[in-house]
Amino acid sequence: MSNSKDFNGKVVLITGSSGGIGATTAIEFSRNGANVVITGRNANNLSEVGKECQNVSPKGLPPLEVVADVSKDDDCKRLIDSTIKIFGKLDVLVNNAGFGMGSLITDANILDKYKQIMDTNLRSVVYLTHLSVEHLEKTKGNIINMSSVASMKPFCGFSLYSMSKCALDMFTKCLALELGPKGIRVNTIKYRICLNYEICITITERLSVSPGHVRTNFLQVVGYSKSQSDARYDELANKYPLARVGESKDIANAVLFMASSESSFVTGINFLSDGGALYSNI
Ligand code: NDP
Repeated sequence: MSNSKDFNGKVVLITGSSGGIGATTAIEFSRNGANVVITGRNANNLSEVGKECQNVSPKGLPPLEVVADVSKDDDCKRLIDSTIKIFGKLDVLVNNAGFGMGSLITDANILDKYKQIMDTNLRSVVYLTHLSVEHLEKTKGNIINMSSVASMKPFCGFSLYSMSKCALDMFTKCLALELGPKGIRVNTIKYRICLNYEICITITERLSVSPGHVRTNFLQVVGYSKSQSDARYDELANKYPLARVGESKDIANAVLFMASSESSFVTGINFLSDGGALYSNI
């Protein structure tokens, strides 16, 4: 029986892989033999992740690094074109790039926020999927979209972010039906985001980015120091049924499973990896 996590010879593109969950996911695919394409706006961070991918790759394969902003159509096109130019094919597309932003309907710049969130979290996914289908049909590949519990549970002050992830879930389900006959599977992975009214309002008034329950740069992006961010995650951990918050590796493992042949009969699902948070009172 073949190793389900053997991605030898597979080409995997992960958006938002210059940090956080996307970076860990790229490293895990590299560790399991894949040729990975990593991308993000920050070239320095990308290059650091690139080094790590090459270090853990069994054959020392260097990733393709593409500096790109997924909210820009030309960058999305360049990303797919470069992938095909260098590797000649695409097996797995992980639409992970995204960000959270608090929003109140009374915000003066509500439409600017709407555009920013939707362009990054949703429009980019539609366009990258559009560009990838012809290549994924040839490889009988699959797509994994990174969603959030915010798509299932309403959070005051996070309507726009929640809408973007909710739409992503429905996009996934519809595309699973549309692309199934072409041999392409489409799934979402989702996990927990830390939201309550007090935090939403504080964050909304502060820096307009939401904190997450998976230890990434989310909190530091909004201006928390490393120690404040760690303290917040530790405080949350006590409330989890599994007594810890998620680590990027937890999500990366779920992505690799979903991309592997082990899940070849799985499509159109929302796979929840949240340590039991959704059903507890966090
Ligand atoms: P991080 O902020 O740690 O990483 C986000 C990644 O996305 C970075 O590599 C960033 O790179 C990239 N990115 C953001 N905007 C753009 C853009 N416009 N163009 C290209 N790249 C972009 O976040 P996480 O790893 O925590 O989040 C990853 C995904 O998981 C997101 O879709 C998020 O909504 C989702 N999520 C996270 C949760 C959590 O608890 N952490 C919970 C639920 C969902 P760069 O800055 O270099 O562009």
